Amino acid sequence: MKKRDIILIISLLLISGLGYCLSVNRLAGGSAYIYIEGNLYDVYDLKQPQTIRIEGRGGIIDDVVIENNGIYVKSATCPYRECVKSGRISRDGESICCLPAQILIVVRSDEGTGYDAITK
Ligand SMILES: [Zn+2]
Repeated sequence: MKKRDIILIISLLLISGLGYCLSVNRLAGGSAYIYIEGNLYDVYDLKQPQTIRIEGRGGIIDDVVIENNGIYVKSATCPYRECVKSGRISRDGESICCLPAQILIVVRSDEGTGYDAITK
């Protein structure tokens, strides 16, 4: 093996290792913020598994499931079900949007500053 090949392999390892660290360091979400038509509907703790039925605009129903520190839309009565196809989200800043119903689900870390602003 040539010296140049070794350097290439090491640098590749470093780059992939760096990417790995970055993804691990990304904050795990702590809470799910659910908005309907731009207004905050409620905040849910991702550590508490539960199913939430949300009625959005036009009477569209989204069944949202919280489990394993994540959240996803299990079923919805909206036309295209983009929200269902979005799958599960669990990391800070990730979101699911149900456009027809105007439902927005955003995961935020509890370590962020936004959490304190919510009065329960
Ligand atoms: Zn939808």
